[in-house]
Order: sequence, then C-alpha cells, then structure tokens
Amino acid sequence: MRALVLSDIHANANALESVLKLAGPVDAVWCLGDVVGYGPDPNEVIARLRLLPNLLCLQGNHDAAAIGALALDGFNQEARASVEWLRNQLTPDSLKFLQSLQPRLELEDVTLAHASPRQPTLEYLLDVYTAGENFDHFDSSFCFVGHTHIPVLFHKNEFQVTLHIPQTERSLVLEPRCIVNPGSVGQPRDRDPRAAFAVYDDQEHVWAYQRVEYDIPAVQKRMQAAGLPERHIARLASGW
Ligand code: ZN
Repeated sequence: MRALVLSDIHANANALESVLKLAGPVDAVWCLGDVVGYGPDPNEVIARLRLLPNLLCLQGNHDAAAIGALALDGFNQEARASVEWLRNQLTPDSLKFLQSLQPRLELEDVTLAHASPRQPTLEYLLDVYTAGENFDHFDSSFCFVGHTHIPVLFHKNEFQVTLHIPQTERSLVLEPRCIVNPGSVGQPRDRDPRAAFAVYDDQEHVWAYQRVEYDIPAVQKRMQAAGLPERHIARLASGW
C-alpha cells in the first residue's frame, strides 16, 4: 500500500494541490496535523482533504487552538491574531471535522503523532536527546511526526540515536526503529520554500521524500487580502 504522508498543510490550498498532483494516485493519506493556522484557505483545505482516499488525520496544536481546545499562552501576538481570524472563518462543518481529530493514532507497525509520541500536541523533536527519550513512548517499528516543519529522520539502534536529513528525490528504506518527519506542506521552515511530503510504501518500508514548487505569490495575495500577519506572509517565500 502507498500512503501519502502529509503534515502541517496550514491552510495552504495551492501547496496541497501541487503535492497531490506530484504524488499521483495513492491508497491512503496520512495527515499528521496542523491542517489549519497561518494560511488563507482553512475551509478549502479541509474540504479537499476529506475527499482523499482512506484519510487518517491527526489534530495538531493549531487545529486544537482553532477549536478552542488549546490555550493561546504559547502563541506569540501574530500567531494569536492569526488564530482569531481563523476562528471567524471556520464553517460549522470544518469545525466539526477538526473536533473529531486525535493528536496520535496507532496503526499496525506505525505510530502517527503530530508533535512527538510522548507529547503528541506540543513537543518539538529537533535533537537526538529529545528523540532518544521519545523512543520509549511508542512500540511500533516506525513513528511519523510533524510539527517542526523540518524533514528529519531519527534512527535508534542498540547503541545510539542518530539524526539524518533526508535528501529529496532519494527514497530510503526505513530500518526499525525510527521517527520520521516529512516536513511541512504549507509552511516549510528548512530554508527551502517548496512544499514537502513523503510517500510511504508499507510493504517495502520505503520512504520517498519529495519537494514540489507551488504558486507562493497567489497564497501571499490571499493572505494579504485577509489581513493576516506580514511575517507569516513573508516567510512562505523564504521557507524559514
Ligand atoms: Zn505546524
């Protein structure tokens, strides 16, 4: 089975469309959360996701904030303004969809978590120390996470935990055990503004990590029209 692994779409409809086009037909879609937040197209992105085959979707911290399930203490002023705009945009249907999501799901040999298996809503997995502790918090061979917007793979063998930055256009075979992040569809933060995603083959355990260009100015224009924060608009072009 080929599963399209998406994360942090952040209400960016152009980025999502480009990803779906490049990925081609897949058997399932696993979305690791933060469907909304920052971007101008929350309802459009939710509606598009719901049409995808065998969708599993997690609730990210921005999704939780959008439905009022997460306090805004950890959000800076711009992020807060953005969430307030978002809350006014969501249709009852979109709200219901976001409310139905969980931050972590267990599949046969894969754990899906938005942020980390230990703290699926908020923890940032950016270093081998934090990743190492998290291997005690899931039993499957593989764990797929999002949240940092940075594509990365943490591998644990009997001696140590190592960090790898995956190369685009190069598929790798996942070796147990590892924690993998496909990067962000709608707001990359690894200095590459192209949308990031992966296609996972659950028979061969192949992780095909990919990037795709999309119409960034079109999204920025809609953000501008919506009055969303300047910094969030600018960072789409820098990928940072
Ligand atoms: Zn995010």
